[in-house]
Amino acid sequence: MRFEISKVLDAIEGRVCTDPSLARAVLDLAEVIRYQDLDGGRPANLLRLGMVIDALARDLEEDSVPVYAIVHRALLSDADLTSNERMVVRRWADDGLVEVLDHPGDRMLEVADLLGLPVLSRARFDGLRGRFPWTVEQPGRVLAPVPGAGGPVFIAHVGGGNVPVAGTRSATGEKLLARQWRCPEPGCALFGGGGGGGAFADLARVERAPAGQPPPSLRGGVPTCPRHGARLGDAGPRPRTEVLAVRIGGLIRRRFVLTEEQPVLVGRAPEQQGGIVLGQWLNDEARRWISRGHVRFELRATAPGRGAASDAPSRSGRGEVIVTDVSTNGSGIRPGGSMTEADRIALKPQQSRVLSAGDMVELYPGVQVGRADELPSGAPFTPTSVMAEAPTMAMRLPRP
Ligand SMILES: [Zn+2]
Repeated sequence: MRFEISKVLDAIEGRVCTDPSLARAVLDLAEVIRYQDLDGGRPANLLRLGMVIDALARDLEEDSVPVYAIVHRALLSDADLTSNERMVVRRWADDGLVEVLDHPGDRMLEVADLLGLPVLSRARFDGLRGRFPWTVEQPGRVLAPVPGAGGPVFIAHVGGGNVPVAGTRSATGEKLLARQWRCPEPGCALFGGGGGGGAFADLARVERAPAGQPPPSLRGGVPTCPRHGARLGDAGPRPRTEVLAVRIGGLIRRRFVLTEEQPVLVGRAPEQQGGIVLGQWLNDEARRWISRGHVRFELRATAPGRGAASDAPSRSGRGEVIVTDVSTNGSGIRPGGSMTEADRIALKPQQSRVLSAGDMVELYPGVQVGRADELPSGAPFTPTSVMAEAPTMAMRLPRP
């Protein structure tokens, strides 16, 4: 039993992050774990975070949607949690996967404001409407997770809807996220140079890339570390990023961030650190076709004047995404997302191509990668639950 719970907590760990490009909603962990009415169990239970994340994935019709969790520091020693749960939360804190604060205050709303994310909370934010008008003006932007028939459901504070609605990054958020920041506190898990430095530093597995830094807190107009209250130093422009998504069987299975520093391998089971593993979603035929590392994605700055010469329409400021087939069997390009077979362009092993607007890379029929904002989720399938025991269900894909 204990082992099973560990596996579920590990699965939840993959769904918490402070990366502005990947987080899809903001919540307060201390609040969510005390939603006793969700299961009628003990006063605090970390598994309730998984239940809320599952509900979010279902509503957004994607398989894995990470949340940005604000964590009151007292939670790290909360006696209502099991020692195992406390250890897990401390590990998340040390790895910078969650934001641990002495005084969370209105940080949850600040993050939502800067990043344009929905807020999952039962709290009323009456006193904060002036500063964050979207809490009352944008229906679906703030939702309360409440008990439903098959797990939690969301009820919008305003407008009565059930589906979380994202806004846009505020102008301040855009400005803050254009730079990278450095906290003077040694080992800062949020704005440090690398992994955590806390009591569990030896377990830290996350090297925080500058591109994935959380948004600073703005105090009196000064970018500040929300954890240490220290003024942040400006460490130069933030690296360019592009968010790509993997769609299998019509459903977005996960998103990942591509930076100029680090190419990303996608395949059945890439050996590269940070590679995108698809194996758990593939049927036998697809597993046989798709190589361990199948395609490699790179991001590079668009060379001046080059956009017009290549067949890739220039996407100003976003850089070019280059795909290289590194497989045994090859892959294909769906130009502009066209599913017409006559349009499909073969990408032979070792061939490269610059992705044009809307282009999808197809590793195997039904297994596609493209820019996240250009790849809609068809959602004919139920997202895999993070609460389910790993490994997740293998899907049946159409035969080639
Ligand atoms: Zn700090």
